[in-house]
Parts: sequence; structure tokens; C-alpha cells
Amino acid sequence: SNYVYFFGSGKADGTAQMKDILGGKGANLAEMTSIGLPVPPGFTISTEACAYYSANKGAYPDGMREQVLENLYRLEKLMGAKLGDHENPLLVSVRSGAAQSMPGMMDTILNLGLNPDSVKALIAKTGNERFAWDSYRRFMQMFGDVVMGVPHHEFERALQDVKDEQGKVFDTELNSKDLHEVIARYQRLYKRFTGEDFPTDPHDQLFKAIDAVFSSWNNERAIKYRQMNDIRGLLGTAVNVQCMVFGNMGDTSGTGVAFTRDPSSGENRFYGEYLMNAQGEDVVAGIRTPQSIETLKAVNLDVYEQLVSIRSILEKHYHDMQDVEFTIQEGKLYMLQTRNGKRTIFSWLRTQVEMVEEGLITKEMAVSRVPSGEFGKLFAPILDNKIIKDQDLKEVTHGLNASPGGACGEIYFTAQKAEEMAALGKDVILVRTETSPEDIGGMAISKGVVTCRGGMTSHAAVVARGMGCPCVSGAGDIRINEPKKYLQVNGVTLNEGDYLSIDGFTGAIYASKIPVRSSEIVQVLNGNMKESESIVFQNYKTFMGYVNDIKTMGVYTNADTPNDTHMAVALGAEGIGLCRTEHMFFGGNRIMSIRKMILANNIVEREKALAELLPMQREDFEGIFTELQGLPATVRLLDPPLHEFLPNDHTSRHELALQMGISVEEVAQKSSALHEFNPMLGFRGCRLAIIYPEILRMQVRAIIEAAINVKRKGIEVFPEIMIPLVGNYKEFEFCKRQAIEVINEIFDEQNLHVEYKVGTMIEVPRAAITADEIAREAEFFSFGTNDLTQMTCGFSRDDAASFLGPYVNDPDKQFYDYDPFATIDIDGVGKIVKIAAELGRSVRPDIKLGICGEHGGDPKTIAFCQSIGLNYVSCSPFRVPIARLAAAQAVI
Ligand code: ADP
Ligand code: MG
Ligand code: MG
Repeated sequence: SNYVYFFGSGKADGTAQMKDILGGKGANLAEMTSIGLPVPPGFTISTEACAYYSANKGAYPDGMREQVLENLYRLEKLMGAKLGDHENPLLVSVRSGAAQSMPGMMDTILNLGLNPDSVKALIAKTGNERFAWDSYRRFMQMFGDVVMGVPHHEFERALQDVKDEQGKVFDTELNSKDLHEVIARYQRLYKRFTGEDFPTDPHDQLFKAIDAVFSSWNNERAIKYRQMNDIRGLLGTAVNVQCMVFGNMGDTSGTGVAFTRDPSSGENRFYGEYLMNAQGEDVVAGIRTPQSIETLKAVNLDVYEQLVSIRSILEKHYHDMQDVEFTIQEGKLYMLQTRNGKRTIFSWLRTQVEMVEEGLITKEMAVSRVPSGEFGKLFAPILDNKIIKDQDLKEVTHGLNASPGGACGEIYFTAQKAEEMAALGKDVILVRTETSPEDIGGMAISKGVVTCRGGMTSHAAVVARGMGCPCVSGAGDIRINEPKKYLQVNGVTLNEGDYLSIDGFTGAIYASKIPVRSSEIVQVLNGNMKESESIVFQNYKTFMGYVNDIKTMGVYTNADTPNDTHMAVALGAEGIGLCRTEHMFFGGNRIMSIRKMILANNIVEREKALAELLPMQREDFEGIFTELQGLPATVRLLDPPLHEFLPNDHTSRHELALQMGISVEEVAQKSSALHEFNPMLGFRGCRLAIIYPEILRMQVRAIIEAAINVKRKGIEVFPEIMIPLVGNYKEFEFCKRQAIEVINEIFDEQNLHVEYKVGTMIEVPRAAITADEIAREAEFFSFGTNDLTQMTCGFSRDDAASFLGPYVNDPDKQFYDYDPFATIDIDGVGKIVKIAAELGRSVRPDIKLGICGEHGGDPKTIAFCQSIGLNYVSCSPFRVPIARLAAAQAVI
């Protein structure tokens, strides 16, 4: 079979659709070649070959080696040059690239094919001695590091030594004699670490490099990146072998990266950075601070205009914002990469909304692309600008606005220290000269990241944007003294642990503690900012309009207070899927009344305590129903074990005893009588209502009276009474009878009716598998997947951490793909949900089905709910927009 795909001179074996086997980079190199863009030719070795290599201890599949050589020959013929030749040498890059982009995770080797002969030929051919030696030393460094594991910093040290000895600051100041010296040192270094001479045979170099790329698929960084980004099911990386072009041939050459739109705000403008006389990673490595793309006009107008036209060709072709790499060799432009650009969630919204408006994409396309996992960042905090104004705080310095969001915390200078302090509960700002992939762990736990070097496309910037972590990069005035643990910036010294605030939207840095406040969207929703002042809000609103047009499933919220309800409705909730009444019992006098109710000796005492609670509950429901303005509300009757309400400290027991006119001993004794060994499986849920029907009757009365009161004010109300923890239809029917009795009583008293439903939570496996019996009387099911998961898997939510971690993360013990309390266990718990839904519908075709609990806000679970035809999902207020997006995506 075929493992190698050629691209060059306007034709390619592959296409953009073949990402799975060519990787994103290879597929797009092929595509760009086919649409006539200037791409240096080359070939791509497929991910299938990598999969074989990984599974067979580094062996190639049959025929691969021969195919590589055939394609190399084809490339040599096309270029009229030969790899490593001492007259007309061909140089290539060997680049990794998986189906999903993993920036900085796998390593690229440039200038392969150089050796003492070909370097001389390169000098003769180009007449540029400095360039040839510079290319050679770069090759040695990359090959030594990537292929043979010679420590990168050893090379850097040797280079720095030569610079110091020659009194030079920048790499570009080194002349060919200096570089010659660098190479001699590199050769010694290589030999010292590997015990071998640096390889001169070009085929040997090539296959070693291919092996290194294949192997890098399973290096620690790559594995960690895939884990953190939930990238699964890929075959491996492809290898791209591509003819070199040189950005380091002098002042008319250069290299750069660009985005077709702003990756931070999404604004429709060409956005890029470049460096002249530089190669490959120089721009993103943060070694020199790059120039913005506009300034290229003055350097080479033709190339600039060509880039601008390629920008629009690419957007029209790919229908999305692109992130490109280019190189200019002696005034001629080459495209080296394109891919869909990574961007902030703000940029996602704006680019997609504007592209729909430009007619470039459909609403469905826009909705399907925006990452639901990042949607929550729209609601991320920002620095409190009012405080900055009022206190006239001045920024101590300024960097690039690399990743949006405000952050404030204590500064630490190493990722490790940052992790330690974050573990102690500190808000941490990580400040580094530049970051490298080893810092990822430290960045993940930081509130914000600052770097002194590097542009918008530096490692720190790219990674921080991906994590939604605010970041200011390239703050060049900051000098860090890492060993002595302080930094100096514009005359200010800050020690480890001092406060720093950063604004990732603007790049401002403040040497003070500035409070962080709600996002623009939240402010507009709360009426603290005008809609017309916030582009972010306008984009959000338009986008959510698309979402609503597409989704079919309802998105409800879990809310227990009028406030939560208000926010959730503002965020688009279509009802309350779970109102937990017990939360209303804490606070104020209420807890006293409920304690009296629990400790009552007889029904008279109990009813007296319940009578105290009735008006308070009724008032709560009135508030909630009013906020809902006619949207349905599922109210769950009292669920938790009663002892959760009892005091366990002496002072409260004493107070309770006083109020009830009993002794403290009696309180203590009654409390301990309520103690249970396994309360989650104890006296709770509908069992309470069955043993003490007066509790149910009070709660139903509060709900229905509230509904009637609100209806009298002209607001529609649709209460749905939910019986928790049912396992047997007889339990449900008992509770329903009690409820209906009360409801009819109230209707008579008030001479007014409201529409209502009585249904149940399905959270006990027995209920799920007898759902047909329950559905005879239950008008709705709400799947309580937290309890259902506990009882189906037999995992106590409070005790599972010790084994569930390994069950999800340990590659040898990965028995569950995801934490079953976060994403529904589709094959087990999900199957039960599906069965129960089918049983329910078999008896009552129009039964209303929904899911509440943590899973209701999880996009993967939402997709599952859509697939089994549930009517709605319910989640916490701030997850409502995420759930709406996920519900729409589940349709597409
Ligand atoms: P990454 O996936 O980390 O971006 P790349 O394979 O894209 O790695 O390459 C790293 C750098 O080397 C990029 O700046 C790229 O543009 C440059 N590069 C890769 N191949 C070539 C080539 N054939 N000629 C010139 N520069 C190249
Ligand atoms: Mg690249
Ligand atoms: Mg429950």
C-alpha cells in the first residue's frame, strides 16, 4: 500500500480532506499546492506509517522506505538538485504534523542534507558564505537536539560563548568565521554526548530524522498535550519532507507568521509578524521581538501585496480564519503552512458572526465550529477598570495583549514554584522571561502569565490562549532575577509573592492588587453596561440567535433562588429543570423551624413547625415563578437525609433546646438517633414524604398557592412537582395521591386553577427498569444522573477520588473514558437512561423527559441526550449558554 504522497509544481497526491492520513500540515501543503500557491515541493509520509512504526518497535511498514526514496528522487529531479550533493545540494526540512494541530509539541528539523561537502557547494552556489554556515549550525543544533537528545541548552551555551568571546550580542552579528567556530564546538559537543561523529551521509540523516518525528508522537510532552486537550483516536503524526527555502539569506529574506483575522479580538484585519534575515522558529521562539506585518509594506511592497491576496484566497477557499507561515527568500514569497487559526473565544464569536454576515459561511457552520468547551470563558472576569480610574493607577509596564482576561495574584518565577503556591490556594501570576513546553503545568494553574520576550505567536501566547489563561507577552522592560527571586521593571522591584495585576485584553501590567470583576456580557446582562458599548455582547447575542434557530432540545437551569433564576433566564434558560427546596431551608429562622419539624415528637408539633415554614416557602416560589414569566419550573420535594439540617455544635444545640423547651441532652440524643451509616441510601427522598406525608403536603401547598398568587398578578405559571428517589411505582402513586388531594383542596379554597404536572426523578436503577410502571401515573421523568451514576456504578461520589483518578487517567487502567460524574457513562448509566426513556414512552408517548445534575451542562452528555430524544437538559445558570451551544451542535 501507499505511504508517501507527493506535492509540487501545482499538483499534489493529497487534499485538505485527507488530514487523518496526511496530518493537518501535510493535507494543507497538498491543498495549497493544488490551488496554485507558492509552496516549496516535497512529500508526506502518512500517519498510517507512524501507527505501524509505534506498534512495531520502530520498524517501517513494507515498502515505506522504498517509497520515500522514490519520492526523494522525484523531488531531486524536480529541483535539479540532490540531497547532500557536493555540487548542487538539495536541502529539506523534516516536519511533523498530526491530524489535529499540536503546536510546539513535536519537533521539526531544518536544513537537512548539509555536510562538509554540501555546505561548500551551498557557498559556491549562493555566494553567501555566512548564510551557509549559519544554516549548517542550525541544522546541527536541531538534529542534535531532536534526533539524538543532546541538550538544547548545551548548544545555546556554545553559541553564547562564541558571541561573548567575539563581543557580539545578536546571532545575526556572527560572521562566517565565528560560525565556523560554532560548528567546530557543536561537533565536539555532539561527539561528547552521543559518542559518534555528526552524520554526514544524507540518507542516514533523513531516516534518522523521520524516526525522530515518528518517535516524538509518544514523547511525554505530546502525550500530555493530547491528554489535556482530549485528543483521542489519532493514528500518529505524518512526516513532511519539504524542500528548504531560506529566510536567513540576508536582508531581503525573512520569515513570518500571520492570521487572516485578529486571533485575539476577531477583528477583520490582516494580522501578522515577521523577522528579516531569520529562519523557522525565530519568530515564535521570542529570541528577537518581531515586526508587525504592516511594516513589511516598506520592506517589500510586492511581497506584502501578494500576502494580502493570499489572505483572501485562503479565506475563500477554507471558509475560515487561517493561520499561515511564510518565508521570503531573496525577495520571493513561499507559503509553508496554513491551518484554521487558533483563537480566543471572543475571536471565535466575532469571526464566525462576521463570516456569516459576509456570506462566507452558514449559521450551521458557525455554530458547529465554536468550541463549546471554551464558551464559558466569555463570562471570564476582567480587571476592575473603575478602580484603576478612581485610584489613578498607572501601569508599571506594558506588553502584548496575548490572551484576554484580567488576572491578579502573587508573582512566582518558575512553573514549579507557581504550582506549589497554587496548591496552597494562592492566586498565582507566573512571570517568565519566555515559556517553554515544560512550563505548561505551571501555566495551567496560574491566574495569569507574563513573559518578557516573544510576540503574539510565542509559545506563552499560544498556550495561554488555548487555556483561556490571561497572558501579557513580550513585556521587554521586565528583568527577572530568577535565582534571587525578584524582578525589576522601570525602577520598581517586586519580590516573589508580591502582587501583580495584568490585563490580557490590553497588555497593561500593574504593580498592585486590582480586583477582578465580571465579564462584559455579564455586565450587560446585569444592566451595568450598555449593549451598544459592547461589541462582545453584540456578537454573543447574534450568535446565540443562530444557536436558537438550530437547536431542538430545551435547555433548562438548576436554580433555587430568584437571583439565580434571573441570571439563568437572561442567559437563555427555558425553564427550571431542578429547584431544590432544601436549599431554601438554610438561612435565617427557617433552619430553626425545620429543626423543630425534625425533632417533633408527634404530628401536632410537626404540623406546627411546618406551618411556620409554609409562608416562607410560598414566598420563595412566588419570587422564582415571577422571574420565570411563564416558563415551567420543576420543583423537587425535600430530598436529603434529615440529620443534614441538625446542628452539631454545642451553641446551636443549646439555642434549639431553649426554643423547643427541651434539654440539650434531648437534642443531642435525637440527633444521634437520626445518625445513619449510609445516609445516601437511607431515610431520604420520597421515603420522607411517605413516612411524614405532612411534609409533602406543606411543600405542595406552598408551590400551588404561590402559583395561584402569581397567576392572579397576570403572570403565567407552570409548576411541575417532582418526587425524588422513587424506586417503586407504589411509592410514586402514594405521593401523587397526597399531592393531588392538597392541590384540589387549594383549588376549591381559592376558586382558581393552575396547570401543573406531577412526575418523578429517575435516579434509582430500580425505577429506571420499571419506568413503564411508573409512567402510568408520572407525567414526567427527570433523570437525576448524579445518584443514578452512584447507584448504577456503585461509586460513592464522595469516596471515589482515590480510584476514579487512575480509572480515567492511568493508561493501563483506563476503564472509563471520562470521569463518569462529569460525562455520563454512555455504555452503562446512559444505557439505563435510554431504556427508561423508552419504557416511559411506551406507556405515555408524550411523557416529558429531561436530565438534571452535573451532567446536564456537559457537551458530550448533551449530545447523548439529543441522540436518545430527551426533551431538555438542565444545568447551572452559567452553563446554560454552553449547554445551548452544545445542544445546537448535537443537531448538526
Ligand atoms: P510547527 O508545527 O512547530 O510549526 P513546522 O514544521 O511548521 O513546525 O516548522 C517549524 C518552522 O520551520 C516554521 O517556522 C516553518 O515555517 C519552518 N519551516 C519548515 N519547513 C521549512 C522549509 N522547507 N523551508 C523553510 N522553513 C521551513
Ligand atoms: Mg508550523
Ligand atoms: Mg438525587
